[in-house]
Amino acid sequence: MTWSNTKNEELKARAHKVIPRGMFGHQSTGMLPDEYPQFFSRARGSRLWDVDGNEYIDMMCAYGPNLLGYGFEPVEAAAAAQAALGDAMTGPSQSIVELAEALVGMIDHADWAIFCKNGTDATTIAIVTARAQTRRRKILAATGAYHGAAPWCTPRPAGVLPEDKAHIVYYQYNDADSLEAAFKANEGDVAGVIATPFLHETFKDEADVEREFAATARQLCDKAGAMLILDEVRAGFRLARGSSWARLGVQPDLSAWGKCIANGHPISAVVGSDAARKGAESIFVTGSFWFAATPMAAGVETLRHIREGDYLERTIAAGRRLREGLQQQAAAHGFTLRQSGPVQMPMILFEDDPDFRLGYAWVTEALKRGVYLHPYHNMFFSAAHSLEDMATALAATDDAFAAVKQRKGSLEPHPVVARMFAPH
Ligand SMILES: *Cc1c(COP(=O)(O)O)cnc(C)c1O
Repeated sequence: MTWSNTKNEELKARAHKVIPRGMFGHQSTGMLPDEYPQFFSRARGSRLWDVDGNEYIDMMCAYGPNLLGYGFEPVEAAAAAQAALGDAMTGPSQSIVELAEALVGMIDHADWAIFCKNGTDATTIAIVTARAQTRRRKILAATGAYHGAAPWCTPRPAGVLPEDKAHIVYYQYNDADSLEAAFKANEGDVAGVIATPFLHETFKDEADVEREFAATARQLCDKAGAMLILDEVRAGFRLARGSSWARLGVQPDLSAWGKCIANGHPISAVVGSDAARKGAESIFVTGSFWFAATPMAAGVETLRHIREGDYLERTIAAGRRLREGLQQQAAAHGFTLRQSGPVQMPMILFEDDPDFRLGYAWVTEALKRGVYLHPYHNMFFSAAHSLEDMATALAATDDAFAAVKQRKGSLEPHPVVARMFAPH
């Protein structure tokens, strides 16, 4: 079947009339190459179908939530069984206790859990808990890190008051000196430090956390009586079956989880150690849907597969296959790729491509050949991404490299990206 986007374009036109800018957030119109579909009809395993019926090997996994494969049967069965009994009820089902027990059992620093819906809820509850626990104001966050879309952390300035971010102080990720300086400048008023498990920002190469940096963050927090908060919303359970920093021997006091913890069902969590329990007991946080039982049943089953299955080894094998294949293809076609980060959460950028015109052209050519890649966000794989899927994807990316090579002289930057990177 040849690729087409008639239905998608019709829906985009309708959306523009009834949805601000046609779409919001990271799906806003113009945030991806123009040919990228905005509307999807279904997903299964490693595959995604858009409204025009085009089938893709999906390298984004819903921007993280898909870990075991779309529609993974055991999780869907657990969710369906609970949904048949009741979902949003006047209070939680017993699965809230089972889910909290599972997380406390899997994450070394966790002694308790609070459940919410989105990663933003979880990171926000974590900083509120740190402030309640310490009775201090300042939260130290890395410049450019994404922690969600609430006023304290949203990357866009519109509608946000300086007061909303007044007590967020910035340091440079992996720069222990900048963290120490932030502590010094706010002595006696630091409630906590928030950090992602590794550097994963849009438009940038990923970078692993430096052990020295993580250890210093822990020491500085201990010395100042501040809480160390790990934002695991994106990386959690994609690097390890517990805390991402356990391998470094660094335990945070609080961590925020979301995205894949129920394989696509809407639930997120804050977990904490007993050092943060008083704070967690004192705050008021809730939501109409936060006690819903279906996502919790899905979460219990997802966590069981995380503990007992080989999803992690599979995603790593798939990621390694893609990375090696792309490296060879790029070289054969005369391009240099920068593939950074863990193979199972890669950032794939072109060298010498400051306005992303090569990247945009390449992912668009791959899209039309049945592979959904991202030009500037880290990608994700699931346990359903088989080595055969990666071989199929690589056949498409090889042709995509050849097509870009042919068009190279006539490529233009996407206007939105050009504006973003225009010298001021
Ligand atoms: C996605 C993300 C969030 C926000 O999660 P939402 O579910 O989108 O609110 C927070 N932190 C990190 C690191 C994320 O990747």
